[in-house]
Amino acid sequence: MASGRDEDDIPAASGSPDASLTQDDSFTATSRAGLTYPWGDAAPGAGETIRIADGISWARIPMPGSLGHINSWLLDDEDGIAVVDTGVCLTICSDAWKALYAGALADKPITRVIGTHLHPDHIGLAGWIAKKKGVPLWMTRGEMLTARMIVGDTSDTVPDEAIVQSRGAGWDDEAIERQKTGGWGRFGMMVFPLPRSYVRIKDGDVLDMGAHKWRVVVGSGHSPEHACLWNEREGVLVSGDQVLPRISSNVSINITEPDADPLGEWLSSIDKLLDVVPGDVIVCPAHGEPFKGLHVRLMALRDEHRMRLYNLAEAIAKEPMRAVESFPLLFNRPIGPDQLGMATGEALAHLKRLEVEGRVEREDRDGVWWYHGVA
Ligand SMILES: [Zn+2]
Repeated sequence: MASGRDEDDIPAASGSPDASLTQDDSFTATSRAGLTYPWGDAAPGAGETIRIADGISWARIPMPGSLGHINSWLLDDEDGIAVVDTGVCLTICSDAWKALYAGALADKPITRVIGTHLHPDHIGLAGWIAKKKGVPLWMTRGEMLTARMIVGDTSDTVPDEAIVQSRGAGWDDEAIERQKTGGWGRFGMMVFPLPRSYVRIKDGDVLDMGAHKWRVVVGSGHSPEHACLWNEREGVLVSGDQVLPRISSNVSINITEPDADPLGEWLSSIDKLLDVVPGDVIVCPAHGEPFKGLHVRLMALRDEHRMRLYNLAEAIAKEPMRAVESFPLLFNRPIGPDQLGMATGEALAHLKRLEVEGRVEREDRDGVWWYHGVA
């Protein structure tokens, strides 16, 4: 990736399979019973915004792939508008921003860009907006450093760490061969160069934005240090991917931290959000429509993961298995070659949680990981 990359270099097409474009949508089934959508199916069109509450408006940035869009939340700031999340580094997204600048944001300067977390659909254009508008990027340190770690991995070949994980999960030779020829470093292609300096935000910080205060509430599991923003007075939570209404957020083990327990962190984050944020807020998610029913949604997500963990532990107690054999127990759709990588990450996250809880043990047989019950 050239450091001099500029506006003209934003590509029109990704040349990348859909599954690698974002890491937000999970393969796990989810219920959305009990939620209400105050705006129904309405969504802002090109160049438009919808007012959600005092201090916050909604813009929608179209994206290729199954998600189809990301929501950008525009917060009233002292002297303009703070942008939360941006879309990927493709012209379909940068064109949407130009339409906003000419439309709803005309006469409203951008004051800062806030990235909820490192995934390309969230910060893909953060560096571009920051550079063009001369404003700072605000992120948590965990997200910024991890983004830098991944962008900095410019290897042309698939690294050994990825092959070790694939083999461990039980991929056959054909799948591993496909992985080796599939390329590496797609993240960097989807993210405009990030600024060298940023403004760190952390859990509990209160961001002063003119008449409004937004408290940073950090969650983990989908990404390392995901920032949600909560306006207590207005009763609004910008939830990023930490809480989504219609899809289950991807919770995966990645090669950056192969021994991590992201599902444990995810479940702890659900408990924390239940504890900290009231259930009657308007939730403004990164994908889907703004909704009410935060606690209903969080409890459904928790219960669904718990049920899958229970089913997985029961099955493993009867018969040892590898990650690839756990897919039918975890996912409600068949896993083909294009989904294999993400499904493996999610399966490993569930198996790791069972290991940490002392319900299964992992045995390494010639580089292949077999999970069996604990007597
Ligand atoms: Zn995400």
